[in-house]
Amino acid sequence: MRILVLGGDGYLGWPTALHLSQCGHDVAVADNFVRRQYDFELGFESLVPIESLQTRISTWQDLTGKTIKAYVGDLTEADFTYEMIRDFAPEAVVHFAEQRAAPYSMIDRKHAVYTQVNNVVGTLNLLYAIAEIDPDIHLVKLGTMGEYGTPNIDIEEGWLEVEHKGRKDRMLYPKRPGSFYHLSKVHDSHNMEFACRIWGLRATDLNQGVVYGQQTPETMLDDRLVTRFDYDSVFGTVLNRFVVQAVLGHPLTVYGTGGQTRGIIDIRDTVRCIQLACENPADRGEFRVFNQMTESLSVADIAETVAKSYPGEATISNLDNPRVEKEEHYYKVVHSGLVELGLVPHLLSDTLITSLFDVTKRYADRVDLGAMQPRVNWRGALGGEAR
Ligand code: NAD
Repeated sequence: MRILVLGGDGYLGWPTALHLSQCGHDVAVADNFVRRQYDFELGFESLVPIESLQTRISTWQDLTGKTIKAYVGDLTEADFTYEMIRDFAPEAVVHFAEQRAAPYSMIDRKHAVYTQVNNVVGTLNLLYAIAEIDPDIHLVKLGTMGEYGTPNIDIEEGWLEVEHKGRKDRMLYPKRPGSFYHLSKVHDSHNMEFACRIWGLRATDLNQGVVYGQQTPETMLDDRLVTRFDYDSVFGTVLNRFVVQAVLGHPLTVYGTGGQTRGIIDIRDTVRCIQLACENPADRGEFRVFNQMTESLSVADIAETVAKSYPGEATISNLDNPRVEKEEHYYKVVHSGLVELGLVPHLLSDTLITSLFDVTKRYADRVDLGAMQPRVNWRGALGGEAR
């Protein structure tokens, strides 16, 4: 298949592009490098040094003989988006290209507005480009489990059968997210469902859990193919941050009681899920939703798992929670759709977190301790201090 990966220079986009290319698909990537720009803005860096997109692509070609075409541009610019879709003529577009950190979107008004404009306008341009150029293209879009929040009922896969005053309907599952970033994804989901219902497009919305891990079989082929590893308090995902803290001999910092339960997924399963979604497209007019996570764990459980697996001593300390979120709550999620398509999950309990400890030990001298201190306070706009 011809598959275009938007956000192909990012943490997940790059390993996904390699995996799809390795599976024999004809792959192109697009990116405007704004993720690298956020690092300059905040003074952070990936723990593992990453190469330029051009070097990554030429290394892949040297090693495998497979080519990956690159488009450099911004999805919020409609001319760029239309031109790219016309030029590459994909059968599937995998859309990772959004601002993806909840804390970044909560820094202040400017960052909240940027996040929503970047994410919602980029996706809307893409929907129009697909509808006008080739409505048969399957859009595979990354959403997040954070869209749902923590409702006191089971979380279904995107849709909910509702009975109200004796009548029944199938409605989009009601969302109650916890940041302006997560809200941007909710807005995207509604725009996509509308485009499928009104224009007959085909789309798969993947509500992904928190991703952990840094290596896939393809990125491990050469140091120049590695993907980023973020451990800072704004972009770092929680398990990756705990691993860095364990290796440095620092306490693993759990926000609040740590009872917050989240869906999580190994990066190797992310790339496989995207492959399965592309190779088994939604029907024309169908807005299909999968909950792309493999297990649920509380933040305290994740900290304990990391502490137990670490060969040295690791302690856990609880910090005041800078976020506004429920710390004890019900959490039960249906996530059978991707397993039915063939996903065989890697679970955290069976995974050797050891490989993450090894990566961290190798680059331990690059760790910036200040980067792990929480800086963004959810209460900032209401007079609390946004550090
Ligand atoms: P990332 O920031 O590393 O990658 C996103 C890429 O998109 C970056 O390279 C960035 O430069 C690019 N980009 C952003 N806006 C763009 C625009 N307007 N035009 C062109 N390129 C643009 O993020 P990631 O961790 O790889 O996440 C990818 C997607 O998966 C995101 O949509 C995110 O919301 C979703 N997701 C990620 C996680 C996770 O744990 N990492 C969890 C759930 C969902």
